[in-house]
Amino acid sequence: MAKAKTSAEKLLGDDESVEVKMKRLYELQLIDSQIDALLTLRGELPMEVQELEAKIEALQGKMNNEAEEIQEVESLILKRKRDIEIAKSLIVKYKEQQDNVRNNREHESLSKEIEYQSLEIELHEKKIKEAYALVEDKNRNKDEIGTYLAEKEEALELKRKELTEITNETKKEEDALRKQATACKAQVEPRLLQAYENVRNNARNGLAVVLVKRDACSGCFNKIPLQRQIDIATNKKVATCEYCGRFLVSEELIK
Ligand SMILES: [Zn+2]
Repeated sequence: MAKAKTSAEKLLGDDESVEVKMKRLYELQLIDSQIDALLTLRGELPMEVQELEAKIEALQGKMNNEAEEIQEVESLILKRKRDIEIAKSLIVKYKEQQDNVRNNREHESLSKEIEYQSLEIELHEKKIKEAYALVEDKNRNKDEIGTYLAEKEEALELKRKELTEITNETKKEEDALRKQATACKAQVEPRLLQAYENVRNNARNGLAVVLVKRDACSGCFNKIPLQRQIDIATNKKVATCEYCGRFLVSEELIK
């Protein structure tokens, strides 16, 4: 009696026989394993769908950014074009004024204004040319993203279809199993159930209840001491593997 108990063992009360508890837990394990097998059929598909969805969202964001930036550049082009018109009308105005000047100094001052506005027009035209090149660049970029996006959307549609088909095929079976699992879980005491779920979540193969086979835990294949094997076989207490923490049941229990 002085032997240390594992944490799962400590959790358990004695209101129900160990045999009944373990049979039920083993039954739950069988149902859960069947559900796992169905989910395995879906394989990587759910993850692939998620990844594609994320990728598409990012690409759409990039497309929107490009579109916004193109709009900004285009409105700057328009502004420069308006400024050119203003400069041109100023030049016309100054030239008219030059016809009516009283002296050379005024004429020269207007010439300087005209020259200044001409330089402004040149600068605007240079900037507009650069802006058009940028817009062209961005449009090309946007088109490339668009093509890539279309490919990804097509791939997503296929993956979704594939997943839906597999899910539909197994849906009825899965629903029935989940119902069975729920009914079974309702009969397992909450703390034992929690321990079972914890072990299951940590186990790679989803096995939380395993048989003792050839003196070993069939979850991790470590040897089980003889006395412990006897305890398990006689359903003396709820036993877990000292190495992997899985619940252990004897082959006799499930016969
Ligand atoms: Zn083990």
